Amino acid sequence: MGTIDLHTHSRASDGALTPADLVDAAAARGVSVLALTDHDTLAGIEPACAAAEQHGICLIPGVEISVTWQRRTLHIVGLGVDTAAPGLLNGLAWLQRVRLQRAHDIAARLEHLGVTTAFTRAHDLAAGGQITRTHFARLLLEDGLARNMQQCFKRYLKPGKPAHRSVTWAALEQAIDWIHTAGGLAVLAHPHGYGMSGAWRRRMYAAFTHHGGDAAEVCCGNTNPRQNQDNAERARAHGLMGSIGSDFHSHAQHWLALGRLQSLPRGLTPVWEHAALAAAQT
Ligand code: AMP
Ligand code: MN
Ligand code: MN
Ligand code: MN
Repeated sequence: MGTIDLHTHSRASDGALTPADLVDAAAARGVSVLALTDHDTLAGIEPACAAAEQHGICLIPGVEISVTWQRRTLHIVGLGVDTAAPGLLNGLAWLQRVRLQRAHDIAARLEHLGVTTAFTRAHDLAAGGQITRTHFARLLLEDGLARNMQQCFKRYLKPGKPAHRSVTWAALEQAIDWIHTAGGLAVLAHPHGYGMSGAWRRRMYAAFTHHGGDAAEVCCGNTNPRQNQDNAERARAHGLMGSIGSDFHSHAQHWLALGRLQSLPRGLTPVWEHAALAAAQT
């Protein structure tokens, strides 16, 4: 069996590649089971499926839903979702409206900081996909206001910084419910990616499990073996399955390489063996 990568992005949100090019790149790296999980949209799934069929690899329809929990933003990945499920589509349509309004607000703040025509430029960069903070970061780089992506977020786009605009995304239980009613599995994305203390991470795992979450992303593109082990222990303690995903956005972010992941630690049920995802792999 080839490599498994259950967390990736395309131009439908903040990835650099078109859905078809992402699938080509994954196939070239020996990925045999790939999930496309764009932020709050399913728009890339159809072209990705067509490309996957050509390569003979399995494409799992997915999404990464923005959630507000305890005034923090969490990301919940849905895997194996029915892309025509009304509950999920309505939920994502609402998040897309929140995103669009937030983009206008962020753009206004950036204009004050000297970035001209920020909304139009971000809108053009997104090319019909969801507008994300990654797009605004690219504008800041273009205008020479920061040296790299990291700096864009640190100086301007993170909570508390001048171009940040706080919004309320979906509730945790809502996101899990949309995924379940679409026949999918809910995965707690990159548990070490929220800058939380161990105590907060434990609360997050408990809340996610309490609301019926199915799996945790145990191995991510930018985690170390100690963090993976911590995730594995928490997932086991809560009876969650384990998932692996690079969170690939672009070839420029080489540390989040597509399909280059550690294997799941022993004693965890791989989420891709669940019946909800097995159907896509036949
Ligand atoms: P949004 O969902 O629009 O708030 O955008 C969040 C996205 O910004 C994440 O999914 C990442 O792709 C990206 N991002 C967040 N923080 C950073 C960072 N420090 N450096 C680079 N990209 C980041
Ligand atoms: Mn992203
Ligand atoms: Mn994420
Ligand atoms: Mn992601």
